[in-house]
This record gives sequence, structure tokens and C-alpha cells, in this order.
Amino acid sequence: MRLKDRNAFITGAAQGIGKSIAAGMAREGANVAIADVNPESAEATAKEIQEIGVKSTAIKLDVSSQEDVTKAFSTFTGEFGPLDILVNNAGITRDALLMRMKEEDWDAVININLKGTFLCCKEAIKIMAKQRQGKIISISSVVAFMGNPGQSNYSSSKAGIIGLTKTIAREYAGRGIRANAVAPGFIQTAMTDVLPDAVKDDMKKAIPLASFGTPEDVANAVIFLSSAESDYITGQTIHVNGGMYM
Ligand code: NAP
Repeated sequence: MRLKDRNAFITGAAQGIGKSIAAGMAREGANVAIADVNPESAEATAKEIQEIGVKSTAIKLDVSSQEDVTKAFSTFTGEFGPLDILVNNAGITRDALLMRMKEEDWDAVININLKGTFLCCKEAIKIMAKQRQGKIISISSVVAFMGNPGQSNYSSSKAGIIGLTKTIAREYAGRGIRANAVAPGFIQTAMTDVLPDAVKDDMKKAIPLASFGTPEDVANAVIFLSSAESDYITGQTIHVNGGMYM
């Protein structure tokens, strides 16, 4: 029970990696808010997690909207009290080669992945700074470090998260706040299920451990960074990618 009675706010937690993080944290004793743009699936996930025996509530949230973010954190503190852990997990892709990338696809990805992370960090830090403790974990990606054809918007948003994380780590270490990132490689979720088999086969060849990761592999790194075991770690990135990038 590494997270007994800790309160966590997890964005994009209705499905995929976020859901796995929420369930993993709940099994370690944390109470978890399932903050997601899709209220029906967030509600279903919160119900599943309640069965683990912790408090879990769905909060409707579009991370790219300042109004939504302010409201969501206020709902959270009203229902849970202190905020111990923020996980910035909500993210989208809108792939196209740079020459064909539409401005709206650039803006959508930057607004949700990067601005959304900024807005949630800002709101969480207001609360955590007063508490003089808190852990922020943001989900980046291997493509922030390697680049990836067709993902100029996505890789830029995920590289931005690394700069944001390091800056927060420096600005708020004195307030007891730790900020770290997790950079997954290829993880089997709805986001990657849509890729053609030929692309998946090529990717597997580039992974020394020769298999794709699971949402639980990412959750394990996030749980470590949320726990007291990582108290002397801030401004860092844990790569969970089977050796794809090293
Ligand atoms: P996913 O299955 O698509 O789940 C993402 C969740 O975020 C969904 O529930 C989605 O809701 C929600 N969401 C989307 N836009 C949102 C918004 N504006 N506000 C709040 N929630 C929003 O994706 P995943 O594969 O689990 O990915 C989770 C994170 O890991 C993302 O940041 C992704 O970039 C990162 N990542 C994934 C991989 C991978 O291989 N899967 C690799 C590296 C990094 P809807 O479904 O209703 O839109």
C-alpha cells in the first residue's frame, strides 16, 4: 500500500493508460478522481475502481479549457480534500506529414497535450504549494526524444511537456513539489490499435525487447513517481519503451 489514503487527480483516465494508472494507484490505497472529456466512460471507470475499496469519482473535464480545469479542481478539493498527486495523461494524436498538416490539427494537439498539461499543473500547484507537498507526473512520449514522421504536432507537444516538467521542478522544489515525466514507447491501447499491421510489425523490429508495452508497464513507473520511494527524484523522465530509445 505505497499510496494509502493519498488523493490523486488523473486526466484522461476513463480508458487506456490513464485507467490503468488509476486502477494501479487504487490498488496501492489511493483515492482517485477520473477526470475525462467523456463523462459516461469516466463514470463507468470510477464505478469499477470503487470496487477496489477506495474513493473514486468521475469529473467531466476538457483539459484544454481553463474554465473546465478551474471547475474540476474545485470539485476535486470539495470531494477529496488535499491533492497529493496530479497525473497529466490526457492526450490525442492528429497525424499528417508536416507539409499536409492542417493548422487546426496542430492547434488541437498542442491545446490538449501541452496547454492542457500547463493548465492542470497551474491549478494543482496553487493547491500543492499551500500544502507544501505534491507530486506531478506528466505523460510524454518516446517521440519527444526520437521524432516520428507524421507527428510534428504530437512530438512537439510531448517535448514541450519535458521542458515544462523541468521548469516546474526548479520553480517549486522549495515548496515540496516534485515534477517528473514518463515517456512511453509503443503501448497497446485504443490510440495505437488503429495503426496498420505493417506499421506495427516495423515498430516491433525497432524494439530490443521485441514486444509492445502494456498500460500496466506505464502505470508501474507512474506509481513509483507518485510514492515516497521517489522523494529524491525531480525534473526527470522515466523511459518505458522496451529499449526502443536509450
Ligand atoms: P487513449 O486510449 O486515447 O486515452 C486517452 C484518454 O484521454 C481518453 O479517455 C480520451 O477521451 C481522453 N481525452 C482526450 N481528450 C481529452 C481532453 N481534452 N480532456 C480530457 N480528456 C481527454 O490514449 P492512451 O494510449 O491511453 O494514451 C494516454 C497518454 O499516453 C496520452 O497522453 C498519450 O499521448 C500517451 N502515450 C501513449 C502511447 C501509446 O503507445 N498508447 C505512447 C506514448 C505516449 P476520448 O476517448 O473520449 O477522446
